[in-house]
Amino acid sequence: MKRESKAGIKALATERMYRLFELAGKEFAKGNSARANRYVELARKIGTRNRAVIPTDLKTKFCKKCGKFLSKGKNAEIRKAEKWVEIKCLECGAEFKRKQA
Ligand SMILES: [Zn+2]
Repeated sequence: MKRESKAGIKALATERMYRLFELAGKEFAKGNSARANRYVELARKIGTRNRAVIPTDLKTKFCKKCGKFLSKGKNAEIRKAEKWVEIKCLECGAEFKRKQA
């Protein structure tokens, strides 16, 4: 069996997170927001379990507070500031800032 290095596991975790967010986006577009939220939950769990950091560009795709998948113009307002992206979750009303990807 191939032994994975720690860096390799992290890279794999990141890859899985991207994949899950991609699937979440597809489900959300189909109107399955419950399933989309589930994918976000899974992606966040992968991050915690593998101590992998959720990539910055994915951090704008879910609500920090309620954890729901966010889609710009659908259930989220995203405004770009100089160095920050301001996100407003229209699901729970939370507003937060993320560093620009
Ligand atoms: Zn929210």
